[in-house]
Amino acid sequence: MAHGQHFFMNPGPTNIPERILRAMNRGAIDFTGAEFRAITEECFARLKRIFKTEETVLAYAATGHGAWEAALVNLFSPGDKVLVLESGFFSLNWGMRGEAFGLEVETLANDWRNPSDPARLEARLRDDRDHQIKAVLVVHCETSTGVINAIPQLRGAIDAARHPALLLVDTISSLASMDFRTDEWGVDVVVAGSQKGLMLPTGMAFTAVSGKALAASAAARLPRVYWDWHRLLGEGSQAYWNGTAPVHFFYGMQEALRMLEDEGLDNVFARHHRLAEATRQAVRAWRQNDGPEVYAMVPGAQSNTVTSVLLPEGYDADHLRRVALDSFNVSLGGGLDRLRGRVFRIGHLGDLNEPMLLGTIAAVEMALGMTGVPHGRGGVLAAMDYLATEAASR
Ligand code: PLP
Repeated sequence: MAHGQHFFMNPGPTNIPERILRAMNRGAIDFTGAEFRAITEECFARLKRIFKTEETVLAYAATGHGAWEAALVNLFSPGDKVLVLESGFFSLNWGMRGEAFGLEVETLANDWRNPSDPARLEARLRDDRDHQIKAVLVVHCETSTGVINAIPQLRGAIDAARHPALLLVDTISSLASMDFRTDEWGVDVVVAGSQKGLMLPTGMAFTAVSGKALAASAAARLPRVYWDWHRLLGEGSQAYWNGTAPVHFFYGMQEALRMLEDEGLDNVFARHHRLAEATRQAVRAWRQNDGPEVYAMVPGAQSNTVTSVLLPEGYDADHLRRVALDSFNVSLGGGLDRLRGRVFRIGHLGDLNEPMLLGTIAAVEMALGMTGVPHGRGGVLAAMDYLATEAASR
């Protein structure tokens, strides 16, 4: 029987703060009544500030997969072509959903350690002279690798090619943890979920939708009922649900959004940056003696929400995860797809502070020793030094 606090350090779902759990601990109310309407109006107004959009935000009782699907079925017709920018497991999975709906999915191949290259996107779109490509699909933070794609630069590539493709971005592991500017960056559809930066349970998903995307959806012929944007929209904002509204999610979301705005979004982003940078400093110390390394190669493109740590050849990351869990009650994320057993992932997002991160780093450093993985010592110290210097300068 494990004692003390379980350190749940997977890159989502995240810790759910007590304040949010308590807000959800109340009875149901009539979801057609005025009280619920006021809660949803507050939530949608706050959500728009999180997405940094003046346009439409829609919510679904679903996981992120639902929002992926909502984006596809509302925008496209059978046979439409979309371009997926490969970044890792999640980018390819979104593309596979498109194929299942009869879309022609082209993948702009990329190795998983580097962000997508805007110049290659621009070249591909310039080649597409008759504008067969209807949309570009990209994951902002590829949760399987910890690589960040530069959305403004990718938008710039689409514009430089003078291509009308819609830009669809998955922010499931970045929204509310890292800066994301839907309108300023010209993103047509943003896909998000409840269980990461928003600190809620899994089971609610969102899309922010531009006017251009809403117009495109009027002509799209893929069948849709549950996800149909036009069924959900009232006068400019969501007014309807297919079925019973997820009232408890809104209790929790109201509290979560208040917490985020009370802290201040920029402070939330800075906190995530600090904790991520401390993690990276620790991994850099472990890297000595040919030890583990941060999987994401480009310093400016390393996620502030998740760090994938690549073990030296021949060592089993899942074994290390088991040791961390069994011995120290610390849960780490595993490698996905081709990274299974090769990386472990530290989620440093949501309701997290310095001691929680340091406890995790210490558990990982002990597990590295216990599993015989070559590494340099001093990861915890490096993280402490960095965090202390940061704290002193605030
Ligand atoms: N996209 C990304 C980037 C993710 O990290 C995840 C889940 O972790 C998903 C999509 C799928 O979301 P869900 O598991 O909520 O369906």
